[in-house]
Parts: sequence; C-alpha cells; structure tokens
Amino acid sequence: MKYRLACGDVMPGCAATFESGDQSELMSAVASHAAADHGITEITPEIAAAVQSKIQVG
Ligand SMILES: [Zn+2]
Repeated sequence: MKYRLACGDVMPGCAATFESGDQSELMSAVASHAAADHGITEITPEIAAAVQSKIQVG
C-alpha cells in the first residue's frame, strides 16, 4: 500500500509530490516541506484535514 500526495492539490502551483508506504511518514515529509517551502510552521487540524483528503492510497 502506497500513500501519495501532490502538494499542488492543496497548495495550487506547487510541484512537489510525496510518496510513502506509511501515512504518518508521509505526513511528516509534507510537514517539513510545508515549513521549508510554504512557511507553514504549524499544521493545524484544518491543514491536516485538507492534506489528508488529498492523499491517494493505492
Ligand atoms: Zn508544496
């Protein structure tokens, strides 16, 4: 099982994509990227929900 996220689905215009076999690992990679590239230092429940709704599992 793979979890995939295209950051552009959450942050229009961003080309970063993430893939992991572990959902919490994917979320931490996304959190690091959000902090480094989008200046989002705190993943609020709203952001987490938006990200999770865009994660593709397959
Ligand atoms: Zn991004």
